[in-house]
Amino acid sequence: MVILMIGPPGAGKGTQVERLSRRYSLSKVGAGDILRQEVIKKSELGVKVEEYMKKGMLVPDDIIIDMITRRLDCGSECQGYLLDGFPRNQKQAQRLDHLLEERGEKIELVFNIEVSEPELIKRISGRRVCTKCFRLYHIDYRKPRVDELCDNCGIPLIQREDDREEVVRKRLTLYREETKPLLEYYRCQSKLVDINGNSHTEEVFRQISAYIDSHLTHGSHSKKAELK
Ligand code: AMP
Repeated sequence: MVILMIGPPGAGKGTQVERLSRRYSLSKVGAGDILRQEVIKKSELGVKVEEYMKKGMLVPDDIIIDMITRRLDCGSECQGYLLDGFPRNQKQAQRLDHLLEERGEKIELVFNIEVSEPELIKRISGRRVCTKCFRLYHIDYRKPRVDELCDNCGIPLIQREDDREEVVRKRLTLYREETKPLLEYYRCQSKLVDINGNSHTEEVFRQISAYIDSHLTHGSHSKKAELK
């Protein structure tokens, strides 16, 4: 099973993917997380992508597609994948379809998490992250047990450089221009599920899980009926 999570930066995709991957034993493939790990390791890939990321630009398609291909090859033992942050434009979406077809797999569901722009800015500017396990926190909504330290690793949390407001605005523009058109691409294939991401994390998780459960039990036709 392959599930995609699409939404603007700050929509809560990472938080949902973290929980969903545990619940459904799916392998989590977070494009941004993998890239950040490479930057921290100062690997050849990390050095190539660091400047694009700092500026809130998209990393070139060939680099990202190559990275995702290798990542999917590593997880061949799992029940499926939850993709977060990939694809982000039409070219990536087409390459992903092709890649999955070659592997005899296909995308089952695409969740579109919608959140208003003022709420996104509020969420992102308060976001903090652990540089070791990548767990996400928020200065108001999801505080660590001990001030500014990761609950898992005990190391100081940081604010991502691309979470500064001017970079966030650029990332939101890129989302509108490059990624949002993908929603129609998946809607036409009857794979898209719109989720109101303004609700509380728990409620968003409940809604997404209901769709997945229904899909697993009955297939795609009864997706909407289950939520009523
Ligand atoms: P994210 O954590 O998903 O917000 O991603 C952080 C940054 O990683 C983005 O602003 C891009 O610079 C880069 N990135 C992540 N996913 C992709 C992708 N699919 N294509 C190109 N760049 C990406």
